[in-house]
Amino acid sequence: MSKKRIAIIPGDGIGKEVVAIGVQLLETLREVRGYAIELVPFDLGADRFLRDGATFPADDQRTIRETCDAVLLGAIGDPRVPSLDYARDILFGLRFGLDLYCNVRPIQCLDDRLMPIKGKGAKDCDMVVFRENTEGVYVGVGGNFKKGTPDEVAITEDVNTRKGVERVIRAAFEFAVKHGRKRVLMSDKNNAMPHAHGLWKRVFEEVRGEYAGIESRHMYVDALCMQMVRAPETLDVIVTNNLFGDIVTDLGAALQGGLGMAASANIHPGRIGMFEPVHGSAPDIAGKDMANPLATVLTIGMMCTHLGFEGEEARLVEIVREAVRTGRCTRDVGGEMGTRAVGDWVLAQVRGS
Ligand code: ATP
Ligand code: MG
Repeated sequence: MSKKRIAIIPGDGIGKEVVAIGVQLLETLREVRGYAIELVPFDLGADRFLRDGATFPADDQRTIRETCDAVLLGAIGDPRVPSLDYARDILFGLRFGLDLYCNVRPIQCLDDRLMPIKGKGAKDCDMVVFRENTEGVYVGVGGNFKKGTPDEVAITEDVNTRKGVERVIRAAFEFAVKHGRKRVLMSDKNNAMPHAHGLWKRVFEEVRGEYAGIESRHMYVDALCMQMVRAPETLDVIVTNNLFGDIVTDLGAALQGGLGMAASANIHPGRIGMFEPVHGSAPDIAGKDMANPLATVLTIGMMCTHLGFEGEEARLVEIVREAVRTGRCTRDVGGEMGTRAVGDWVLAQVRGS
């Protein structure tokens, strides 16, 4: 196997703290398992922007696009930079520049203690959301007419293309096949938004016919929110648009123990992938050794699968499960340890496993 190059973008706030653990974990995996990986650091984020005004230089974009196999991103966002333009350049440069059309978010609860729903346990929550990542209401098409007047009209367009919808629905089915998952659910609101979501419904009806081995169904997003809380055990792979995916995955994060436990991948199957813990830069706890690094450990598990390191993701999930079960974790998930101590414990487990 040729050497895999991993771009490292620590970013801001707790992003830097959890990526530091992530880098140690990757270095430990290289040493212990012999993975052929090379880490390529990039100085991007608020510090860089404040120093020389650079957001995401074209050279860096090209190097990542043309020479890397994966990106590990911490978080972007800093109270010293109120304008979010630099963050937009970096995040959109990666997401749109690399055409990462699937935002994949596993929602797995790893310990009964983390499950907030009465009568449910960790075993009842194990789903994966495929959120469309390049279209929908987040593309910024629209405008404010007669702005600031009593007659103002504000319009945000929901842009959905046939190709865009089909490729993410297909990716969700392919994922289900590859990972032995039994069901795929597509969620929209086509009763209220017949144009955009009617397209989703039609494409879903077509594509599902090609996957006879997978049970597939449709659910309106309002009903899905109820289902996630009332009967999460009935859910498996979920595919939905950008906006709904954003919302249901936050609901999902609550089912798995909060943002400190939520991992994500931004992928274009067959190409470079970008891997990031779901949480942001969390300025309130930055620099205090309080950030939960376990979302980053799970995120690196997803990266290992993407890079073809079979079995590593499952091993890392088990280490995280054990960390939570035995209280080797940060306060947000009921422990008393700091970021670095949790990281050290994880590294020791990798060495011993
Ligand atoms: P950003 O603007 O970059 O998204 P934010 O202030 O919205 O930053 P988030 O990271 O989105 O912060 O998280 C919201 C809150 O959840 C944080 O303020 C923090 O208290 C908590 N939190 C988030 N991530 C973690 C983590 N890894 N460990 C512990 N607490 C966390
Ligand atoms: Mg946030």
